Amino acid sequence: MAQEFISINPATEEENARIPVWDDDKLDTALRYAGYAQRDWAQQTPLETRCELLRNVAELLRVKKRELAELATREMGKRIGEAEAEVEKCAWVCDFYADQAPAMLADEVVETEATRSLVVYQPLGVILAVMPWNFPYWQVFRAAAPALVAGNGVVLKHASNVPLCALAIEGLFKEAGFPEDLFQSLMITSAQVERAICHPDVRGVTLTGSEPAGRAVASIAGRELKKTVLELGGSDPFVILPDADLDEVVPMALKARFINMGQSCIAAKRFLVDKTMHDEFVARFKVAIEDYFVPGDPMDPATTLGPMARRDLMEELHNQVIRAQDYGATVETGGQTLDRPGAYYAPTLLTNVTTSNPAFQEELFGPVATVTTYTEPSHALGLANATRFGLGGSVWTTDIATGEAIARGMQCGCAFVNDMVRSDPRLPFGGIKDSGYGRELSVYGIREFVNIKTLWIK
Ligand code: NAP
Repeated sequence: MAQEFISINPATEEENARIPVWDDDKLDTALRYAGYAQRDWAQQTPLETRCELLRNVAELLRVKKRELAELATREMGKRIGEAEAEVEKCAWVCDFYADQAPAMLADEVVETEATRSLVVYQPLGVILAVMPWNFPYWQVFRAAAPALVAGNGVVLKHASNVPLCALAIEGLFKEAGFPEDLFQSLMITSAQVERAICHPDVRGVTLTGSEPAGRAVASIAGRELKKTVLELGGSDPFVILPDADLDEVVPMALKARFINMGQSCIAAKRFLVDKTMHDEFVARFKVAIEDYFVPGDPMDPATTLGPMARRDLMEELHNQVIRAQDYGATVETGGQTLDRPGAYYAPTLLTNVTTSNPAFQEELFGPVATVTTYTEPSHALGLANATRFGLGGSVWTTDIATGEAIARGMQCGCAFVNDMVRSDPRLPFGGIKDSGYGRELSVYGIREFVNIKTLWIK
């Protein structure tokens, strides 16, 4: 029987749609056409036209915000308000690159003994984007907008549980006037990704997803000598110094951990709290969690607790919570699935989480916060860095100098003082250590998939 992607609403566990998986011949044809389209785009479409088309996409995203948001909510359970905000952010990144690309891609003259020597930025070819379901639009647009405007083509292998979002994105580029085949959503499985990477027209791969997926894709791309950018998992620390104002910190802790039902790579996952304020912080955080969350239909704007994206992910998270307890963690609140249809997990607070606890070492990709105590700021920094991940981190204090020193010492790609970690088109985004390599967004993002070429004219 032919394989299918099955899109399931995680709030009701009803089926949304079934989409047939492409066979290899169809994949090869799609990639060949993406190659033709990319060469025309790079050679015959001026940069100003590419920017205009990207602005059209931004406009369409705004016009269709509600419709797109509802689709994401139906496929992966995101609350409708969060889904609408995600669509708006996609419009922002398209406008950002439409405005900034001409300066970012302009020739750079370098004085040498040549008559003229310069650096020029040229597209690489077709870029394969392997993307996750957690921000089904944002992850795609933040990779595709700079790659396309720089003259590349983009083919998307989206996560298997969001095929309708993938098709909607392809539809947006078409409707906005992008050339046929330049952006395509490939209906392929992860097993077919190797074939796509090996295709001669595919010149780079960007993957946002888990560490195992990143390792698998990067090994193939390495063998094929194709450039990769990897945005992988994280276990961001949220360091609370003893002088921090808990009236401000607790609501931010709630937001930073439970955004997108905790399914965010840059969600705060490890709360590092000074020993002297542990009891007060835990008491207040627990009350905040218990007061705030009311389960309901994620399509209803009043709902504060929606489902996780899939039942299997919820079960995996629950196993991690059970294992954390085996290693001595205490469940202050939550720690269970909800007795209702759908993949609903009770927002959970774990204390007594030591560095040897798997909950400290692994990524908890769902609504579970862990608390670990420290004795002095240098100890806090040591704990912040005592992880193989290195995506983001935040520190909370009224002493800005100490906050900045800790932020500078964090082994990660994005460190924030008195704010939660978030991505912003104007600033580079990415990780170090097992969180991956390369950068997205800002000028650094657009430079990942270009040929940075020297031109020397004697
Ligand atoms: P995932 O299982 O790794 O899937 C991500 C994408 O990779 C999907 O399209 C998936 O396809 C594909 N994939 C999985 N295994 C593969 C393989 N062996 N070869 C080729 N492709 C493969 O991750 P997820 O569950 O969707 O997302 C959660 C993870 O993403 C978390 O670890 C999170 O921290 C990370 N993430 C990182 C960032 C960042 O910016 N650093 C942002 C968001 C999420 P299938 O769905 O078909 O398996």
